[in-house]
Amino acid sequence: MELHHQTLHEVHEKLKKKELSSVELTQAVFKQIGKTEKKIKAFITLTEEMALEQAKKADAVIQKGGNFPPLTGIPLALKDIFLLKGTRTTCGSKILSNFVAPYTATSVENLLRDHAVIVGKLNMDEFAMGSSNETSAFGPCYNPWDLKRIPGGSSGGSASSVAAGHCFGSTGTDTGGSIRLPAAFCSLVGIKPTYGRVSRYGVIAFASSLDQVGPLAKDVTDAAILLKSLAGHDPKDSTSLNLPVPDYQKSLGRKIEGMTIGIPKEYFVSGLEPEIEKAVRDAIEVYKKLGAKIREVSLPNTDAAVPTYYILAPAEASSNLARYDGVRYGFRHPEATDLLSLYKKSRTEGFGPEVKRRIMLGTYVLSAGYYDAYYLKAQKVRTLIRNDFTAAFKECDLLLTPVAPSAAWKVGEKTDDPLKMYLSDIFTINVNLAGLPGMSLPCGFTKEGLPIGLQLIGNHFKEETMLQAAFAYEQATDWHTRRPKL
Ligand code: GLN
Repeated sequence: MELHHQTLHEVHEKLKKKELSSVELTQAVFKQIGKTEKKIKAFITLTEEMALEQAKKADAVIQKGGNFPPLTGIPLALKDIFLLKGTRTTCGSKILSNFVAPYTATSVENLLRDHAVIVGKLNMDEFAMGSSNETSAFGPCYNPWDLKRIPGGSSGGSASSVAAGHCFGSTGTDTGGSIRLPAAFCSLVGIKPTYGRVSRYGVIAFASSLDQVGPLAKDVTDAAILLKSLAGHDPKDSTSLNLPVPDYQKSLGRKIEGMTIGIPKEYFVSGLEPEIEKAVRDAIEVYKKLGAKIREVSLPNTDAAVPTYYILAPAEASSNLARYDGVRYGFRHPEATDLLSLYKKSRTEGFGPEVKRRIMLGTYVLSAGYYDAYYLKAQKVRTLIRNDFTAAFKECDLLLTPVAPSAAWKVGEKTDDPLKMYLSDIFTINVNLAGLPGMSLPCGFTKEGLPIGLQLIGNHFKEETMLQAAFAYEQATDWHTRRPKL
């Protein structure tokens, strides 16, 4: 297979054996970017000069010999919501189009500590609000499996860049499905870790009780390597938990015989496309053969997840986005005459329509007179949703569901109907509301050749169980070995 389409752990072996240098690897990646980026539009900013410098330093580490971290010298890319000191960080928005990060996010520091090479900052939905990457102020991003289609969102560039061989892994954020949905649509492995597992310091906030950082990768081993590097306690993020980070790669290969996997019946409802349902049911059969015990479970409040999320997430966003006022960060309207007009003009021109919709919705549900009816009620329903999962995990080690009701749709298909767009998150949002870890992995293709994703959901801080089961499935199938023809 061409170098740029190989996995992270495969190229790591080559670096280790000195069959290849990190500079050569980085150059190969930029060659592929040069060939196909025009069609994909995965990047908002490329950092070639910096990447080659980092690659040289990584080569020096490799030359020294001894053990070096598996990310040493590996080209990766960051969703443009992660701060990287001295580089532009736009969050997909006009309001931050000239914002240069004054410091680096802790999760990115972790990747740099492990000598990773950063090739650029990736396209995304504006402020991570969207499911298709179409709300980006920098234009859409395209799915390498079918260039007429969206890659999923909001971490669209994070998925399309890895699938197109523009990097060997990427970072994403997931507030309601933004890692898992694009991973599913681009035939990748994507992990949304437990709330608190990865530091969010230096990651631009959308909805702080839901946001979590995670990796997108070509297979389960690569995802495990990336998660290990990203995760860990950070005193700078008060929501990050002080728990040891297991060596996730070690959990791969353990037998899953006797593991109980729950199938929530509310996830197999009308609206789920038959081809997707078949692929997921086939995956259940694979798990049976591997010795897992399959059991139907019920999560009765599943229906309430989309409305609950679309009250809570906009409420938190309206508060988080109040800081973009034309004074402290980014775009400042040149024609403002006083403070109020500066706020008004900068925000009116700086934010796109979806972000404005969320700010207005969020401000409304938090306002006096509506707070109890909407925000408080949604908080109570959130508890019910979490309780459903707690009950299910008394009987099961893992839950298995589809990632989305359909495969990737055509660019423009859902842009004029926000509700349709919101409904694509129906199977992923619940996991964020409950703070659980969830992951997406390839489980087939539609007749049209579009990737289908399988979701595994673990109990809090049970990423290892999830990865163990994902790896067992991956070993029994070959979906993860396919690459798009570009
Ligand atoms: N699609 C969801 C939204 O628009 C989730 C986005 C995300 O996870 N960042 O809010």
